Amino acid sequence: MLHSLATRRLVRKLGSTVVRTDKETCWAASFDSSKISFLPEAVIRPRQKAAVGTVLELANRYRVPVTVRGRGTTLMGSAAPVRGGWVLDLRRLNRVRIDVEAGMAHVQAGATTASLQRAAAAKGWLYPPDPSSKEYCTIGGNIACNAGGMHGGKYGVTRDFVVALHGFLPTGEYVEWGTATKKFSAGFNLRDLWIGSEGMLGVVTAAVVKLVPQPAARWTLLTSFHNEVEAMRAARELFRQRVQPAICEFLDRESVLCAESATGRVVFPGQSGRPIILLELAGSEAELRDLRPVVLAWAGRHAAAFRAARDRAEAEALWAVRRKCSGAMFELGDSKLNEDIVVPMRNYGRFARFLALLRRDSGLSIPTFGHLADGNLHVNIMYHRENAAEARMAVSTLQRLMETVVSLGGAISGEHGIGLAKSPFLRLQHRPAQVKAMKAIKRALDPRGILNPGKMFEVVRIWKYPRLQVHLPWDHK
Ligand SMILES: Cc1cc2nc3c(=O)[nH]c(=O)nc-3n(C[C@H](O)[C@H](O)[C@H](O)COP(=O)(O)OP(=O)(O)OC[C@H]3O[C@@H](n4cnc5c(N)ncnc54)[C@H](O)[C@@H]3O)c2cc1C
Repeated sequence: MLHSLATRRLVRKLGSTVVRTDKETCWAASFDSSKISFLPEAVIRPRQKAAVGTVLELANRYRVPVTVRGRGTTLMGSAAPVRGGWVLDLRRLNRVRIDVEAGMAHVQAGATTASLQRAAAAKGWLYPPDPSSKEYCTIGGNIACNAGGMHGGKYGVTRDFVVALHGFLPTGEYVEWGTATKKFSAGFNLRDLWIGSEGMLGVVTAAVVKLVPQPAARWTLLTSFHNEVEAMRAARELFRQRVQPAICEFLDRESVLCAESATGRVVFPGQSGRPIILLELAGSEAELRDLRPVVLAWAGRHAAAFRAARDRAEAEALWAVRRKCSGAMFELGDSKLNEDIVVPMRNYGRFARFLALLRRDSGLSIPTFGHLADGNLHVNIMYHRENAAEARMAVSTLQRLMETVVSLGGAISGEHGIGLAKSPFLRLQHRPAQVKAMKAIKRALDPRGILNPGKMFEVVRIWKYPRLQVHLPWDHK
């Protein structure tokens, strides 16, 4: 009742082209990539940042839940409006400006990561965070999830590039955390508190991000190994020599087979069915000249086979196969529990052996791929939803995975965040005092609990909810 009154007031203030209440728009904003649906009452698509303040001020007054949305590519259910209310869709705030002299970009929250990368590349700069969803996902969403991607090991993740944030507190007050300077030590650092806060502490409308010069040269090497343990051991040997590949992607046997079947392309002719590491060096011509022999010697010592990409086109084709991995898993089951755990390098061998055990004990396919230079691995527990025994086994396998990751000194999420999907495991990672501190911060910044309520701290077993049968633009097939 009160929410409907608030919605009517909002329509009067912002107009019905910005505030949409039609069924189709509300339905489309009711879910993200997790495909769990909760209908909102309205979807707001501001063209001006000031409208964001208006929305939050009204929402706060009438206690309307607000879920901020970039493009809804999150797999964690964090953009699904579990409590209904309003969805604040920022895709129309999408301007990008490159400051060539400062090596920074001024970017509105709704710009896609790929559009920022293209604008930077046109001026000789690189924005390294590189989520596979980059053609769709937004900078606002990347900041809210602290997104990573393949470049994490050498360059870092979104957090490492954010210089300043502009946006609104849940109360509707405008704030700027930091300025467009590389140094800023004035006061508490709430910029970093917002990064990774999954739209629960504030709404980002714009950011200033750091860029790095485009590397003059790149070199891609494909390597195969006899088994997963050997591949992981070999990667550690490479890092021990202080080689920092720009990308170092691992695909286990199952992932290779899936990617091959999805793309119709053999990743490494003659090596089918073997785990691979695909790595890329990036830097000046001189740096690469020095590093190439070191890496080739390493491959000669450790790999079953290796081959350098002949040219950029061949390298890009290999990376395209890697980017297909996530969707390709659906060759093995109609459902997946998609994890983005992190394991410390010193425990790579133990983790590879644990995964083999997990496969054997569960009888499930668990294709695993990911970023070996930062330990962030995508473990995909595949199952058939209609098969009750398989579904139960998938959930207990997930529990075992999360417990093991934490016991090995790792993290339950390296880049996707908690949202709904990882909420059952938050307390495995954090002590009660840590969760209490997080909740206190939430209460301090969002006293009425309107911003993205029902996430992170409340346990939601996402696998129990029905999944929509919809095809999203970034889905496989
Ligand atoms: C095929 C595929 C591949 C992927 N690959 C990667 C990968 O390699 N690396 C990686 O890190 N992730 C990856 N992801 C996950 C996802 O793309 C990222 O989490 C991304 O950052 C989400 O961006 P988005 O704009 O879609 O945000 P949404 O999904 O719309 O929202 C995600 C969260 O951010 C909040 N949010 C969004 N915008 C704002 C804002 N302006 N202010 C405050 N909060 C906001 C939302 O409330 C929500 O909590 C992948 C997803 C898919 C589907």
